[in-house]
Amino acid sequence: MNKTDAVPARHPDGVPVRVAEDIIAAGAFVSAKGWTPATAGNLSARVDGGAMAITASGVDKGSLRSPDVLLFDLAAGKVLGGLAASAETALHVERYTADAAVGAVVHVHARNATVLSMVDASHEIRLEGYELLKALDGIRTHETGVAVPVFANTQDMDALARDVRARLADAGPRFGYLLAGHGLYAWGRTMADALRHTEALEFLLGCELERRKVMR
Ligand SMILES: [Zn+2]
Repeated sequence: MNKTDAVPARHPDGVPVRVAEDIIAAGAFVSAKGWTPATAGNLSARVDGGAMAITASGVDKGSLRSPDVLLFDLAAGKVLGGLAASAETALHVERYTADAAVGAVVHVHARNATVLSMVDASHEIRLEGYELLKALDGIRTHETGVAVPVFANTQDMDALARDVRARLADAGPRFGYLLAGHGLYAWGRTMADALRHTEALEFLLGCELERRKVMR
C-alpha cells in the first residue's frame, strides 16, 4: 500500500471525499454564473448506502469547504451530525426517493427562471423548438417539447415535496421544475448532468422570456 492508498476515502463526518469535491466544484460553478446570490441555492449528490450529501444552510456556494457538505440519511430523514441542512432539504430528499436514477440535485435562484416563474405562474412552461433542448438527457432533436412544471412557492417544504412527488409521478421525462418567484430545481444522473440541465433550462427559460416580450 502506498501513501495515496492510505488517504481516507471519507471525511470524518462520513461524506465521501469525491462527493464533497464534486459539490464544492459545482458550488463554484453556479456561484460564478450568478445563480446563487446572497447564499441562496443548494446542492446535493446521492451517496451509496441510502444517503445524500447536501450543502449546509446559509453558506456561500462560491466558497464551500468540506465541513459545509453534510451527510443526510434518506431513510431516517436527518443529518448525521454537524450543521443544519438547507431549509429545502425535503425537496432534495423527494427527488432521490422518487427516482433511483437521480444522482444529483441542483437548486438555484437564477434570474430567468425566477422572473419567468412570476410571468407565467400557471401549471407549467413548455419549451419547444429550441436547439438547446438537446442538452437534456435523451433528447436528440429540436423538434420536441419539454414541460417545466411551476409550483406555488411556500415555506412549508414538506407539503411542497408531497405536491412535487404527486405531480411528477406520472409525468413524462422531467429535468427540472420552478418554484414561483423563487427559482429552479434541476437534477440528473450525475452532478455534471444536473449542472448541464440547470444551465440549459436557465438559458431556455431566458429565451422563452425574451420571446414572449417580442412576440406579444
Ligand atoms: Zn431556494
